Amino acid sequence: MSFNLPIAFTKYKSKKLISCNVFQSFNWIAKILTLRSMKALTFNGVEKINYEMVADPAIIDSKDVIVKVNCCAICGSDLHVYHGRETGIDHHTCMGHEFAGEVVEVGRDVKDFRKGDVVISPFTISCGHCFYCKIGLTSRCIENKLFGWVENGKGLHGGQAEYVRVPLADSTLLKLPEEVSIEEGVLVGDVISTGFYSAKQAQIKKDGVYAVVGCGPVGLMAILGAREYGAEKIYATDRENSRLQVAKQFGAIPIDASKVNAIEIIREASQGRGADAVMEAIGSVFSVQLSYDLVRPGGIISSVGVCTEIYLPFSPVQAYDKNLTYVSGRCPARAMMPTIIPLIQQKKYPFKSIITHRMNLSEGVRGYDIFANKKDDCLKVMLTP
Ligand code: NAD
Ligand code: ZN
Repeated sequence: MSFNLPIAFTKYKSKKLISCNVFQSFNWIAKILTLRSMKALTFNGVEKINYEMVADPAIIDSKDVIVKVNCCAICGSDLHVYHGRETGIDHHTCMGHEFAGEVVEVGRDVKDFRKGDVVISPFTISCGHCFYCKIGLTSRCIENKLFGWVENGKGLHGGQAEYVRVPLADSTLLKLPEEVSIEEGVLVGDVISTGFYSAKQAQIKKDGVYAVVGCGPVGLMAILGAREYGAEKIYATDRENSRLQVAKQFGAIPIDASKVNAIEIIREASQGRGADAVMEAIGSVFSVQLSYDLVRPGGIISSVGVCTEIYLPFSPVQAYDKNLTYVSGRCPARAMMPTIIPLIQQKKYPFKSIITHRMNLSEGVRGYDIFANKKDDCLKVMLTP
C-alpha cells in the first residue's frame, strides 16, 4: 500500500512528500519525524482547532530567535478566527499570539539574547527604529506582523505551540523582568497592555465618568488602566455575571447590559450628559452602538475591540452631532509593556486573578471550547506545552 505523509510534517525540513510502501516504513519514518517535529494548536476551519504535529520552526533570518514556549494563552482575538468572523488564515497555521518562554536558538545578528534567556513577547513584531516605532506605535511598525497569522503561506506562526520563531528578536522581545511571573509576562504581552492602551486613549481625568463596554480580559484590564490613570467612577457592562463580579472586584460599578438600561444609569451618574469616555472592548455592532449611546457630546470612544463588520453603526452625521472623538486600533504592546511592568513588580493590581483555567497545551482544543462558550465561568485560559 502507498500513501503520503501530510505536508505539515515536512514544511520547514523538506518540501518533498514522502511515500512509503509498508506500514513498518511509515512507523519508522514517523518516529524520526516525531523527534524532529513539535505539537501545536492549529486552525483547520471554523471552530476546528487541532492539536497536531507540525514542523519545528527554524531560524530563517539572522535576526530571528527560536523560543521554547513555557506558557501561552487563548485571547478573545483568537475567537474571531475560531468563529470565522475573521477569515483568510491558512489551515494548519499555529494559533496564538500570547506566549513566553526560553530562547533555544539564536540568529547570528541577534545581540541582546542568548540561549537560555527567558523572554516575554508582545503579540506583534516590530523593528524598533522606523517612524512608527519611534513614536511608540509599534503595532504599525513597517515590519509589523501578528503571531498566529499565516495567509497564503506568508506571515508568522503563533505561540500556542511547543516552539515559536520570533523575527526581529532584539526589538520585539523583552527578558522576563525580576518579580514578574511567566504568566504575568504572557498577560502583559497583550491583554494588560491593550486594556491600559484603551484607558490611555480615553484621556482619563480624576473627576470624569467612564464606561467600559465588555468585561472580558481586555475590558477588565481597561478598568485597572482607567484606575491607574486616575479614574474614580468607572461603570462596566457585560451580560456575564461572573465577569461583572470581577469588574466589581477591580473597582468598577457593574451593569448587566442584558437586564438594565446602561444608558439611563450612566446618564443619571453624569447629570444627564453621558460618559466622558467609553472604553469599548468587545468589537461588535452592539458594543460600538452602545458606546456611541453612552458617550456624552464631545466625549471619546476608545475602541480596542476588533470589530469585523463593514460599517460602524453610527453615521458621520451622528458623529458630527456629538462632536465625537473615535479612536481605535491595534495596541502597540511593545511600547506599552515597559510602562506596565513596574506595576506588576509592585503587585499594584491583581492582574493574574483573571486566569481561571490552566491546562496542558494538549488539552487546548477543550480550552478553546470552554473559553469561546464561557463554560465553567471561564475568563482566561493558560496553556503549558
Ligand atoms: P472576550 O471575548 O473574552 O470578551 C468579550 C466580552 O464581551 C465578554 O465578556 C462577553 O460576555 C462580552 N459581550 C459580548 N457580547 C455582548 C453583548 N451583546 N452584551 C454584553 N456583553 C457582551 O475577549 P477579550 O480577550 O476580552 O477581547 C475583547 C476584544 O478585544 C476582542 O474583540 C479582541 O479581539 C480585542 N483585542 C484587541 C486588541 C487590540 O490590540 N486592539 C488586543 C487584544 C484583544
Ligand atoms: Zn490577544
